[in-house]
Amino acid sequence: MGMTPKDVLAMIKEHDIKMVDVRFTDIPGTWQHFSLPASALTEDDFVNGIGFDGSSIRGFQAINESDMLVVPDPNTAFIDPMLKIPTLALICDIRDPITGEQYTRDPRFIARKAEEYLRNTGIADTAYFGPEAEFFLFNDVRFDQGSHFGYYFLDSDEGIWNSGADRHGKNLAYRPRYKEGYFPCPPLDTLQDVRSQITLNMMAAGIEVEVHHHEVATAGQCEIDMRFDSLLNMADKLIKYKYIVKNTAREFGLTATFMPKPLFGDNGSGMHCHQSLWKEGQPLFYDPKGYALLSDTARWYIGGILTHAPALLAICAPTTNSYRRLVPGFEAPINLVYSQRNRSAAVRIPTYSDSPKARRIEFRAPDPTCNPYLAFAAMLMAGIDGIKKRIEPPPPLDVDIYELSAEEKAHIRGTPGSLAESLDALEADHAFLLEGGVFTSDVIETYLDYKRSRELIQVAIRPHPYEFFMYFDA
Ligand code: GLN
Ligand code: MG
Ligand code: MG
Ligand code: MG
Repeated sequence: MGMTPKDVLAMIKEHDIKMVDVRFTDIPGTWQHFSLPASALTEDDFVNGIGFDGSSIRGFQAINESDMLVVPDPNTAFIDPMLKIPTLALICDIRDPITGEQYTRDPRFIARKAEEYLRNTGIADTAYFGPEAEFFLFNDVRFDQGSHFGYYFLDSDEGIWNSGADRHGKNLAYRPRYKEGYFPCPPLDTLQDVRSQITLNMMAAGIEVEVHHHEVATAGQCEIDMRFDSLLNMADKLIKYKYIVKNTAREFGLTATFMPKPLFGDNGSGMHCHQSLWKEGQPLFYDPKGYALLSDTARWYIGGILTHAPALLAICAPTTNSYRRLVPGFEAPINLVYSQRNRSAAVRIPTYSDSPKARRIEFRAPDPTCNPYLAFAAMLMAGIDGIKKRIEPPPPLDVDIYELSAEEKAHIRGTPGSLAESLDALEADHAFLLEGGVFTSDVIETYLDYKRSRELIQVAIRPHPYEFFMYFDA
């Protein structure tokens, strides 16, 4: 880290780079890019930016005010391991050429402001995030967007979905049994080399990887965990991770999806987010006297997350499909409580280590369809709100929640049942996000409008395949 524009230009020379690819994320969290010949990149571009048309980017400018600038962040330079032509990629901030200001709808700017706001509160100087983004690998995914039937087809060697023994010329006699994907050795796990190659590509792109493994779902579910990093860095890494997963899968003739619930009846893909606050190199979440060795600060942080969880999920579990994952029976959290044991609790306290440095909270409700810049920023803002207001979470719940009586369960708040509910919650509860100007009202309004008009309503007006099963003969 600490790269200057000069260092980037030197890197281009040293590695005989041919193309420079500049990248940024739109509001929903998809990486966008365009390229220039490496010889065309100048030091000045890092100051004055490079122009592009922002009008066709989801959630960005109206067509009449569409000229925008990307300003490459030299610290993010990496040689893209997925491209054949030597290409240096740069993650960019976005600036408005007229005002000269950073663009308030740029998710990366929001993440930067959240980090700055944390420092300004004096509570801590660093928020660390460790996301565990799960995904599926399929041989084939086909869907017909135009058809009234919305027909789709998923196929995996590992799953119950493949009826033919060797339609790919492979021996498929061994397959994981239902929900036993976690995690027998090959030949049951046919994806070892794919995950290893993804891991090597991630390392080549400057990402530190801790572990990779098959996940519980029968049909090719995987997880690769990165070493934790500070908020903005980790959001950059998560976007890179998804890019490398998808592109490496493609090299193997597979298709990766981070969709939270691609298959009915099997586990979905979450993105549990481990979080902790630090000040001057010291961890703030540890106290040997606290429940699960948690400090007051950590407990109030949890209080903030749980209190604002319905609104947070509009950003952290942001798709209509997210709520098909947040149902009982698949290790996805449905209870807005915390616990050091319970995996159905939205916040879990990992107990692998009792070291002060390892003390962290794990918020399990997010999924990998979120925009990590917005999601990490929003979670941090909820946590800070909890600390400032000393919000006590409900008492930790270590019993098996499924065993509780109806009366006991009635006191437990649940995760929202749909994106519609989460969006309504965000509309009603977002003052905590506006603190310090981190999110703006314009961003919240734009986000709500985008999600409602472009996603929620679009699903609502289409007949669902299961409706044909239930109602066709009605
Ligand atoms: N896939 C599960 C989820 O949806 C979690 C399984 C796990 O990592 N323990 O959150
Ligand atoms: Mg994990
Ligand atoms: Mg997992
Ligand atoms: Mg986890």
